Amino acid sequence: MMSTRISGTLNPWGPVSSASRVRSYQNGRVCFHPECDTILSIYNPSKYCSAHAQMAASSRHRGTPRPIREVACEQCGTVFETGNQARKYCSDRCRMAAFARRKRASLRAERLLQKAQALQATTPAGEGRSRVGSVA
Ligand SMILES: [Zn+2]
Ligand SMILES: [Zn+2]
Repeated sequence: MMSTRISGTLNPWGPVSSASRVRSYQNGRVCFHPECDTILSIYNPSKYCSAHAQMAASSRHRGTPRPIREVACEQCGTVFETGNQARKYCSDRCRMAAFARRKRASLRAERLLQKAQALQATTPAGEGRSRVGSVA
């Protein structure tokens, strides 16, 4: 059997020239870090060398990494480390438990308040006593 000749697909001026146009960046760029003069690869899209790219990404927000502090969970007392100043609980479970406890407490307080108000409505306040005093 004769093999069919493939022709026309290996045209060197055809699709090859556009495929070889790999995206590249300006040559001779230096790492953006003030104390680093590593020459960046033209294929590196970052302003930093590989050693400083990570650092730049992590400290982008404030310039310095957030201080890690030890906090005792308000729910179970477990000490945990966090960089989040607002965090009060070691886990979501404790956060939910604390939320439920607060909700229960506020419900109880509300019920007590309603009871007190009902009590106040049935017994006349200082008014009656002052009237007695003025008569006497
Ligand atoms: Zn660098
Ligand atoms: Zn906890």
